[in-house]
Amino acid sequence: MSIACARFANPRHLYKLLRSLGNRGFGNPSLEAEFQSGFRSHGVRFLYVSSTVAAGCFMAFWLGDLLQGNRPAFDELQWTRLSLSAGLLAFGQMAVRFKEATSRHYTLACSLMVCLAALFSAYVARKGMVKASSIEAYWALTTSMVMATLMTYGFARLRAGHTVLLGVFMLSVTVGFGLDAPEFNRIAFQRMVIHVTAANVLGYFLYRFSMGRERKLFLQSRRKNHVAELRRMKEQAEAANRAKTAFLANMSHEIRTPMNGVIGALSMLNDEAVSDRDRLFIKSARDSARNLLQVLNEILDFAKLDAQKVRLSPAPFDPRQTLTSACEAFSAIALQKGIEVRANTRGVPPEVRTLVADEGKLRQVLLNLVSNAVKFTQQGEVVASMSLVLGAGGMAQLRIEVSDTGMGIPESALSCLYQPFYQVESGSNRSHGGTGLGLAICKQIIEEMGGTITARSLVGTGTTFEVMLDVPYSIGERLSKDSAEGEPSAFADTAPPPANDLPVLDGEVLLVEDNEVNAFIATMTLESLGIRSVHARHGQQAVEMFKTHAFDLVLMDCEMPVMDGYEAVGLIRAIEADDTARPRTPVVALTAHALSGDREACLERGMDDYLTKPFDRHALALVLSRWLPAASTADA
Ligand code: ATP
Ligand code: MG
Repeated sequence: MSIACARFANPRHLYKLLRSLGNRGFGNPSLEAEFQSGFRSHGVRFLYVSSTVAAGCFMAFWLGDLLQGNRPAFDELQWTRLSLSAGLLAFGQMAVRFKEATSRHYTLACSLMVCLAALFSAYVARKGMVKASSIEAYWALTTSMVMATLMTYGFARLRAGHTVLLGVFMLSVTVGFGLDAPEFNRIAFQRMVIHVTAANVLGYFLYRFSMGRERKLFLQSRRKNHVAELRRMKEQAEAANRAKTAFLANMSHEIRTPMNGVIGALSMLNDEAVSDRDRLFIKSARDSARNLLQVLNEILDFAKLDAQKVRLSPAPFDPRQTLTSACEAFSAIALQKGIEVRANTRGVPPEVRTLVADEGKLRQVLLNLVSNAVKFTQQGEVVASMSLVLGAGGMAQLRIEVSDTGMGIPESALSCLYQPFYQVESGSNRSHGGTGLGLAICKQIIEEMGGTITARSLVGTGTTFEVMLDVPYSIGERLSKDSAEGEPSAFADTAPPPANDLPVLDGEVLLVEDNEVNAFIATMTLESLGIRSVHARHGQQAVEMFKTHAFDLVLMDCEMPVMDGYEAVGLIRAIEADDTARPRTPVVALTAHALSGDREACLERGMDDYLTKPFDRHALALVLSRWLPAASTADA
């Protein structure tokens, strides 16, 4: 007992006790501080509501009494009560309205309310003690209840020290008024104490309830704000990412266009070169241009994949052929480095002839994996193996492993490999080329196909990349070699087609191209293939020319000022529809958009074929030979 008394006597313990009575906090100081500083006005609203109820009850009692003829309608006391009640109401109302201001001066607002309530309650107690009627008893209770609620409310939200000060102030005001009253007696004092105590207990529970609710609301709104903030940040980040992607795509597109001029001019020059020495120079320039083009293609590929996901076009293909051709593409480089590249397709059951997937995309993945393996291996071998586990419902599990005996990848880097632009060897001592986008592209493609790509590696021993995919398969018919060629991919430029052996064609072509250099190169290339051409600078000019003259073919650039290629093709097709006597003229799109999906876009808009810039004579000849007749021997 004495220990308990000693505890009470200790101000620190008393302070703690007071705090624990009034305030069940969040237990997190910064959260608590935020809660305390953000005035959410539920306490004030509580005051507001309770004083409204009190005033309403008072009016009801007063009217009841009046109707029964018990009391004079308005005596001095009634007026005082009414005006004080209205004052308190107005104060509560204001506190709710001017949340901003009251939140900044929260302590002041609370103290004022408590003082006002104390004064009011004491005043009423003094005036009403003698002639205690039912109104008097009720009024004493409700006023002290409001006051007590305020006190406890202030107790919780104010610092404990302030609260004690307020409590002392309130008590002394009450007692002062009470003692000063001429009719004051012991019974009145007892009644007042009972009122205040009962009201305090009741008020405390009411407070606890409202405070609990207030804290819950605070947490809820905080969570809501956080979610909104996170969403906003996510949107911002996505917008920034989109802007970056668009920038990358635009830049590589812009660079591809002049590259067309460079490669085209070099091709022409190569055909006319005088000495072997010249040819050597031209070859190095062309090789460099091609390498640059590959980098651009990769950036463009990545940008596109990043922006709008991969668009897959599944078709049947022979998986063995895909793997073998991917390995073959690197056999020359491997030979130079003194390593061996092998394709192992023994794991594919012989009865399986085709798989159904986007072969172009799968090949792109394989090419990058094999290219990496060859690039990072100095001795030994690179083995690409494929196995297929046939399952139910015509589905098979395809597993592709590309292993090398190269330098390996440290454990810590394995998880970062698929991040765009990540390279294990970075900085100025980098000894291998590349953009660091290859694996990021592979992962996007494989995930879009519903598969997984993983890597395991031992530094100094080698690395194995494993791709797992579920694909439909079929047994039986063999595919023609044609279907394995697929779409142009980022790697299409790595293996140049064999020189010479170009067809000589016949016909007149309308060349629509805004870039003067590109137009010149294209005209010269067409000429070298035996084709006459007329040049239009933009779509509108092309349409005008098309109206008055019949061409055998239109080579249409897609992006041009005044009128772009897509719109021009639409008009050309409309002209043909109006004039039924006119045969349909093949339109071949010329575009620097080198990606899959663009081909479909061009075909959808009414074009017949598609040629990526920069193109060389071989590519142009290949496409044109599909649409134009070969020149008769006499012409050639
Ligand atoms: P890009 O493919 O864009 O031309 P890159 O080959 O550097 O450039 P990724 O294919 O994404 O880019 O590979 C990222 C990095 O992962 C490489 O730079 C290399 O450090 C590491 N890496 C990938 N494959 C291997 C491998 N077989 N052996 C060792 N390191 C590898
Ligand atoms: Mg790579």
